[in-house]
Amino acid sequence: VPEGDTVHVAARKLHRALAAQRIERSDFRVPRFATTDLRGQTVREVDARGKHILMRTDAGVTVHSHFAMEGEWRIYAANARARGPNHEMRAVLDTERARAVGYRLAILEVLRTANEDDVVGHLGPDPLRADWDAAEAARRMKQHGGDTISDALLDQTIVAGWGNVYRNEINFLRGHHPERLVRDCDVEATIALGARLLRANRERAGQVTTGNLRDKNWVYSRARLPCMRCGATIEKRNDTARVTYWCPACQPG
Ligand SMILES: [Zn+2]
Repeated sequence: VPEGDTVHVAARKLHRALAAQRIERSDFRVPRFATTDLRGQTVREVDARGKHILMRTDAGVTVHSHFAMEGEWRIYAANARARGPNHEMRAVLDTERARAVGYRLAILEVLRTANEDDVVGHLGPDPLRADWDAAEAARRMKQHGGDTISDALLDQTIVAGWGNVYRNEINFLRGHHPERLVRDCDVEATIALGARLLRANRERAGQVTTGNLRDKNWVYSRARLPCMRCGATIEKRNDTARVTYWCPACQPG
């Protein structure tokens, strides 16, 4: 499941491969944009906001994509054969130097760059961007005082970037039971910790929250294993789309 740091890494790779390159062929395999043709436009930059990727051209056009659970962009040499099943390819962009292929993209759309706010304007501050604003993030989270901290950490309109791995790990590191309400949490400290974790992983693929590459996470994906801090058995609950893990001793109810 891609989290914000994974998406930023992907955007930087795309930027390095495509920026300043002229598009020689574009192929969008979604009905609405099947006839959209970006040939002749030059890629200006590839940017990320939260889990959204924004590829902008010199013609004022943005290709907006979102991975959701399984999407990815892969970069190949120019004219190389793309791997993977054809039906999973949603977008193919060819430049003189590289071929970029988007697989299983949950969102793929082409819009005017001037209208980007229509698709990403709802997002909260992103800890991986230069315009990160921790105070604004805290203000937004406090407006959700009656929500559980688990819901608030996943709400991309509060902070754009955390997914389910970080949600579970932030709660462990702050000693929050997953059902604790936002109003009973130290919002500023929670946001500061979550921002630090995202930044610590900005240059690598994968979410290390323990500082240890072998045992990467405290509770995520560790159901029935002993807590690495106290030895209690990690619990798991699966009653929503997102799986919850917690240590009953370190995160009392
Ligand atoms: Zn524990």
